[in-house]
Amino acid sequence: MPARPLTGAPVVSQLHDKIRSLLASLPSGTARPTLALLIPGDPSALAYARTIRKQFRSLELEVREFTLEDCLDIPSFVTLIKQLESDHSVTGILALQPLPSAIDRHTLSHTMPPTKDVDGVSFEQQGRLAVGRPHIAPSTPLGGLILLRHYGVDIAGKHAVVIGRSPVVGRPLALLLLAADATVTICHSRTTNLAALTRQADLVFAAVGHPGLVTPDMVKPGAVVVDFGVTVVEGRVVGDVHPAVADVAAALTPVPGGTGPVTTAVLACNLLRLAGLWTGDDV
Ligand code: NAP
Repeated sequence: MPARPLTGAPVVSQLHDKIRSLLASLPSGTARPTLALLIPGDPSALAYARTIRKQFRSLELEVREFTLEDCLDIPSFVTLIKQLESDHSVTGILALQPLPSAIDRHTLSHTMPPTKDVDGVSFEQQGRLAVGRPHIAPSTPLGGLILLRHYGVDIAGKHAVVIGRSPVVGRPLALLLLAADATVTICHSRTTNLAALTRQADLVFAAVGHPGLVTPDMVKPGAVVVDFGVTVVEGRVVGDVHPAVADVAAALTPVPGGTGPVTTAVLACNLLRLAGLWTGDDV
């Protein structure tokens, strides 16, 4: 039987319903949560900015946009972040990747104020996640866990193999899985015999950016496979998981239409959390 497709759309719809009901409970005249969106010139960042703009405006969340010029230097970047930090009308700040070449990840983590850090990039939010007390977790990996919970996939006690260790997806994902009581193995480009590890997994997470990296022989029959990969091949978006994995796995997130749309919805949830509107551990 082919794997159950774990599509993102119903998860997004449920998250949007909750966001709308929380916003509807605000007294009239209350300012809407506002995202300051810092946009570099890279085409992938511009495309993601369009998605955020469309989705946030459909939820009646404010988006204020700032262009990150390629020539931007660290002092100018820090000045912009500090201005946004002291601007009381700004709820959250998101700097889209890839950042201009002069701005490294550590500068971003060091500069981002934790109280306005909508995607968990600041050292404080990363530290909270590392010690198992996340407050604002990065939206992509958090979205992956929310998606699994939506479909009733058990995480506690399962062996999860995460392929990829970037600070954006793989590493925070591994920490979130650990916080959810999975037994976690993290793999990366220097891992030897990747297939021997993935074959032991109840849950396989691919966050690499190599189309077709995960093949059917690498997956235990009945495992659940979550694909974060996004690569454009001949004009089509493809994931890291070979389509034939659907013949072996019990469930699989499609690309496109799986983890991607959930990421943007979780970003909106994180904004509401920063605004003090979203409480509790459901996201
Ligand atoms: P990244 O920074 O390039 O990290 C890729 C990771 O994969 C690294 O840890 C790398 O190992 C590892 N890797 C590379 N080749 C490998 C191999 N042959 N075997 C095992 N591991 C290997 O990428 P990223 O930002 O984490 O993004 C990963 C993918 O997710 C990309 O396709 C990206 O477009 C996508 N993405 C999706 C969403 C979403 O919403 N679904 C959001 C963000 C990103 P080393 O650490 O050793 O280099």
